[in-house]
Amino acid sequence: MTQLQFDAIRAETPEYEQVAARYRELEAAYDQAPDAAGRAAAIKDWEALRREIATWTSLVSLRFQQDTRDADRKAALDLRNELAPKFEELRNGFMRKIGKGPHADEVKSAHGGHVLDVWDCAVASYDPAIEAESVAESKLASSYTELVSSASFEYQGETLNMSQLAKFSQHGDRDVRHGAAKLRNAWFKENGAELDRIYDELVKLRATQAQKLGYENFIPLGYKKMGRTDYDEKDVARYRNAVRDVVVPLCTKIRERQRDALGLDTLMAWDESVSDPQGNPKPKGDHDWMVERAREMFDGMGDELGGFFRLMSDGKFLDLKSREGKAGGGFCTSFPTHGVPFIFANFNGTKGDVEVFTHEMGHAFQNYSSRNQSTMDYFWPTSEAAEVHSMSLEYLTYPHMDKFFGEDADRFRKVHLEGSLTFLPYGVAVDHFQHLVYENPSATPAERLEMWQEMERTYLPHRQWGEMDRMSAGGFWQGQLHIYHVPFYYIDYTLAGVCAMQFWVKAEQDRAAAMEAYKTLCTRGGEAPFQDLVRSAGLISPFDEGCLDGVVAQASKVLGV
Ligand code: ZN
Repeated sequence: MTQLQFDAIRAETPEYEQVAARYRELEAAYDQAPDAAGRAAAIKDWEALRREIATWTSLVSLRFQQDTRDADRKAALDLRNELAPKFEELRNGFMRKIGKGPHADEVKSAHGGHVLDVWDCAVASYDPAIEAESVAESKLASSYTELVSSASFEYQGETLNMSQLAKFSQHGDRDVRHGAAKLRNAWFKENGAELDRIYDELVKLRATQAQKLGYENFIPLGYKKMGRTDYDEKDVARYRNAVRDVVVPLCTKIRERQRDALGLDTLMAWDESVSDPQGNPKPKGDHDWMVERAREMFDGMGDELGGFFRLMSDGKFLDLKSREGKAGGGFCTSFPTHGVPFIFANFNGTKGDVEVFTHEMGHAFQNYSSRNQSTMDYFWPTSEAAEVHSMSLEYLTYPHMDKFFGEDADRFRKVHLEGSLTFLPYGVAVDHFQHLVYENPSATPAERLEMWQEMERTYLPHRQWGEMDRMSAGGFWQGQLHIYHVPFYYIDYTLAGVCAMQFWVKAEQDRAAAMEAYKTLCTRGGEAPFQDLVRSAGLISPFDEGCLDGVVAQASKVLGV
């Protein structure tokens, strides 16, 4: 078999009328089928149609991000964004017909019961009755992105946007970090009223959607939108308390040690991203060199990972170099008609190159491993489970980091582990804050700033804002895009992080067994909800009593705190 090349993946632009007609045919075929086999055939045809649309959706978005200056690619993306909710509506209609119909059991015996829960979440979180609010919501979320993207700073002889300014938070010179923090604070202060207004409207629109769909408030609707089927807000609250009680004290120790290592009297907010006076370790070579090292690394991790990396690399399913016109960020996307995923990144010579690469390879390997699942609804799990695959690979590749960092490999592992731990309290603070917000949708913007101050006192007690007045007034959360764009998503990074750290602990004890459990988990894709998947890999659910203790004990030992 010849190697599949990325260039060979094509997808025809679907026309709404044709797709709607296909749906009418599928519905008729399903209704008129004489038996279960006939209904299964209609579902199979539906699956094929959905795969085509999904491949087109991924391709259009990817091609735009590969060159944001290309007018044709932009036009294709606009068309996609216009059609997406219409296709979703058609899809939900079919899901409702099958999932709520008299033959739902046939689906259950073919694919397992979880797919019905997945459909239920999709159907329960959208209805044409909330179309106006949904459209207004995405416009407001875009206006947040536009506002933040419009920020421009003159600093250190450069003109910088918000994310470029952020690189100075890791600068070795404290005055440079402090100056960058002042600029950032001033921008958020100047734009605070507008950021407050956008969020206030978003919260009220989301509350209205929840009310129209019959929910008590936006929280249960937000959970449905995240596809959560096996835990609720009470479980999440207990987990946040465990992070507060078990992880926050460890983070306080890490911060104290960091303060001493940097030789400071007080660790200020603008010192937090620098973990030792040498600055953060960097990979020892450029893009091509890193790809070569990656090939050696994955070859050293078994046939599956080695072979998969060759498939990705030889077929040009990797776009890792930064270049003009290319969108920022890193992600993994997939083409369900073909089964081979794609990794997009922007290498910039920092340790982040290696982190984003191993992370996205984890997503890609999972997606590829579950390509033979019976339905595309299982190709990706819900996001907290998906982040387990990606974050775990960051840890499972630890022994190979000397390939990239040479004599700095130990320092890299320490910085990575510390960063993963200190992230947990921040992640749950973002989550707790949103629960407070959506429980009290009529709170004023000023009250929301107070809520965030309360979160910092609870979860980030070491944080010192000094003269950064907008930040000490509770404005820091306004820089966190997820809060505006994807409510309740953020905690998923922490839930997955806790699971990934368990893989790290397991691998320290028995590397081969940990790799086998990891590969099996990847093969399962999204065939089960989060906690089932986690437990099947021999991990403890983050919602179970005592889950954090083992991880924190091991981390304290390794870090010597
Ligand atoms: Zn990820």
